Amino acid sequence: MSQNVNRRDFISASAIATLGASALGLGAEPRRPVGNHRPVVISSANGLRTVERAMELLKAGADPLDAAIEGVAIVEADPSDRTVGYGGIPNEEGVVELDAAVMHGPTHGGGSVASLHNIMHPAAVARLVMKRTDHCLLVGEGALKFARAHGFPEINLLTDEARKIWLHWKETNGKESDWIAPPDNELDPLVREFFKREHGTIHCSALDTHGNLGCVTTTSGLYFKIPGRVGDSPILGAGLYLDNAAGSAGSTGRGEANLLNCSSFAMVDVLRRGLSPQEAVLEAAKRVAATNKSPRLRDAKGRPNFDVKFYCVSKDGRFAGASLWAGAKMAVHDGEGARLVDCTPLYPEPLVS
Ligand code: ASP
Repeated sequence: MSQNVNRRDFISASAIATLGASALGLGAEPRRPVGNHRPVVISSANGLRTVERAMELLKAGADPLDAAIEGVAIVEADPSDRTVGYGGIPNEEGVVELDAAVMHGPTHGGGSVASLHNIMHPAAVARLVMKRTDHCLLVGEGALKFARAHGFPEINLLTDEARKIWLHWKETNGKESDWIAPPDNELDPLVREFFKREHGTIHCSALDTHGNLGCVTTTSGLYFKIPGRVGDSPILGAGLYLDNAAGSAGSTGRGEANLLNCSSFAMVDVLRRGLSPQEAVLEAAKRVAATNKSPRLRDAKGRPNFDVKFYCVSKDGRFAGASLWAGAKMAVHDGEGARLVDCTPLYPEPLVS
């Protein structure tokens, strides 16, 4: 147990995780006999435990989407990941709003939820949207009512740490001028540390022992967003996409860029044309850069002043990641242990913000 987690916090965090886990399996497929295809799982850099868990499940005959959902559920329940699920950074009003989507290769099914409050595992709710409705996307209050109807427990997703970070943002960048931040030397170190970090989200694509694919993307979205803002993560074709005959892809980073380019659909389309995952991720990165016309979003050389990361696995188990700027990594498990590997950058230097 880390030193700054006291026993009371630890008990309540694990109780919260147990609460969420009780609904996590709703809608999962029964296990099948294991096939002889080599399984592969890829994820964003925050997904090392995700690829580990998903691989364990694939080797035990789990459906690829179920394995991916259970893998990302570790991060959805982790209060220290401030970009996904419980502990995620809230919107500008201090409310955590989650987005998630899933796709299932064998059935070419997809489901998603957006602007969902109070539910720790939005990806599992998205799977039920796919399986237990005639729709692909439920949002806001409707998504919450649907989750409730299926027995998902409700909790306050705003941790004390995320609340302190939000409060500091409100006192320094918010619209209300009556809010006053403490002097810098009185600032909580966790708040100071946070404002140096990058954004997140988690994507996971899994290829099972029968050569079938599943994928999921789950996020708390842009920090301090306008309430109701929805990014790419719950939009099929933008934050994730798959074709069971070609491969699976997903993305994290500035969602608006992926919405404007259908980036995940574009990556899978490159695979459909017979090209490699490496060509697919670089093609998506180039499109985002080429279509980014807004002066507000360009540096002095006309390049995007934000980052986007792309992940892709082909039907035959090859995988690749790319980013606009240098330094990004992705998590991989191809049977030889979970590890982080470099994403190929479009530009050779790191993003200077
Ligand atoms: N893609 C996410 C969104 O736009 C955020 C992120 O990955 O940083 O909501």
